[in-house]
Amino acid sequence: MLKRLTLFIVIINLFIIGCNKPLNGWNKHVHDEDVLNAQKAITEQLLRKHIGTLASDEFEGRFPGTVGEEKTVEYLSATFKDIGLKPGNPNGTWVQKATMTGVDSDLKAQFITDDERWVMNVGGDIIGNSFQTQSQVNIIKKDIVFCGYGVNAPEYGWNDYDGIDVKGKVVVVLVNDPPVMKNGSLDESMFGGNAMTYYGRWSYKFEEGLRQGAAGVIVVHETVPAGYPFAVLQGGYASEQLNIEDPNMTPLSFQGWVPLETAEKLFEMNGLNFHQSKESAVNADFKAMTMDAKFTSKISNSVRRFSSNNIIAKYEGSDPILKDEYIIYTAHWDHMGINKKLDGDKIYNGANDNALGTGLVMAAAEAFTNLKNGSKRSILFLAVTAEEQGLLGARYYGINPLYPLEKTVAVINIDAMGNTFGRTKDLIVVGKGNSELDYILEMAAAQDGKYLIPDAEPEKGFYYRSDHFEFAKQGVPALYADGGIDVVGKGAEYGYKKKDEYTYENYHALSDEVKDDWDYSGMVEDGRILFRVGYAAGQHSKWPEWSDGTEFKSKRIEMLKNYKY
Ligand SMILES: [Zn+2]
Repeated sequence: MLKRLTLFIVIINLFIIGCNKPLNGWNKHVHDEDVLNAQKAITEQLLRKHIGTLASDEFEGRFPGTVGEEKTVEYLSATFKDIGLKPGNPNGTWVQKATMTGVDSDLKAQFITDDERWVMNVGGDIIGNSFQTQSQVNIIKKDIVFCGYGVNAPEYGWNDYDGIDVKGKVVVVLVNDPPVMKNGSLDESMFGGNAMTYYGRWSYKFEEGLRQGAAGVIVVHETVPAGYPFAVLQGGYASEQLNIEDPNMTPLSFQGWVPLETAEKLFEMNGLNFHQSKESAVNADFKAMTMDAKFTSKISNSVRRFSSNNIIAKYEGSDPILKDEYIIYTAHWDHMGINKKLDGDKIYNGANDNALGTGLVMAAAEAFTNLKNGSKRSILFLAVTAEEQGLLGARYYGINPLYPLEKTVAVINIDAMGNTFGRTKDLIVVGKGNSELDYILEMAAAQDGKYLIPDAEPEKGFYYRSDHFEFAKQGVPALYADGGIDVVGKGAEYGYKKKDEYTYENYHALSDEVKDDWDYSGMVEDGRILFRVGYAAGQHSKWPEWSDGTEFKSKRIEMLKNYKY
């Protein structure tokens, strides 16, 4: 029903645009003759070559730090060189070395009151670590402050840290966005309604605690709002965790999770009821409260450092001024490598995830080199590493950008785009409505008779789970589109069937391989659309902006204070 309505609105929109308005701005540029000719470089043959090569067994599943990485770096830089691009690193190379830290934390933790000392069972009652790189990181008997949802969101007039100083203390916070209700259902005007905003992600909770000066952050895990059971976290914390060091920030002395049962017991130790306290945190006038109990954690860290490569190429802009402004296409080149313990097929080829996205970025690069009149702004093609380990390559670039982020106009990310089953009448936008990039995409998609739809599960926060997000977090508007559902001649039911097939059978499985029955027509069309989007963003005088109310907008405004485009 909702979808029909959306389609109807889109058709009306097309009608209005088609009949009443001359083409202008971005919409004019997606129609430029030059771009329509140049896009012909994006072909089935080219995509077959790139995807087939990257997803071949020879590339060993492209795990960072392996022969698979060496081959990938070689293949991408040779291709970029062949088609006439410049090395993207200003130091004259095709790579940016991304230094990572692997930390293995051995944790001991206690909650202490005047008459009780609870030595926790690590792994069951609590899990956590510290990314500080000294061998011993301790918090000794520090105050615990319950800070509700741990959110400081000026655009919603919400600050759980208002009026409390948590410097050097340990904060306890709830997972997900505050579920603000209005007339019996979620208030759509607060924290995206049913959709998860960044304020709901655990990584935000840790980052905000750190910004507030806390020594430690404890997130209370609950299965429904977290979206996964506690066991998922237990698995993750049992082994080495990877991190990108930020030279401007010392990581928390403790960051971790407790299951609901631990939270209930902790609140009880303080004469409080967890569920009542949680209830009170849903109000904007909630005040953080200091508990009687103190927290102690002792962490022994073993640390190793290593580096992997982001691969970067540059198509230089033709305008003497605008060439110092940038559009970045991103796709992660890495995947899950080889599992030597398996019999038979051991290689995670990652064809859809993300040889396909990397191939589309390479094809878009070739299309740019086919432009007769060039692009006014410069275009960067950035294949990032270690996405599968937590967006690490992209985070490294976000913290150590090779070109100023305040001159970076937009990011277009392609990850497991997944259209291997033919042309569609629609295109999914993950985080639809976040920025004006959606508008450019809408115009480009309309050229092929396509309409945009949002992703089906906004409550799962997929916008925060791929590389573009590391740019969004820094303030740069970022687009993350996904292949459509409504397959031409076969309908949406077929599209959903194919998507589910991928999600449940092939995603992060050995079978994510190039298949004989792949239909490349939709992939070619979608690749050309994204090429036109980047081209239009590179031509038009105006920059795409974040929509009002998005959690990234204030950061962008702050960033652009000193740079007027
Ligand atoms: Zn991926």
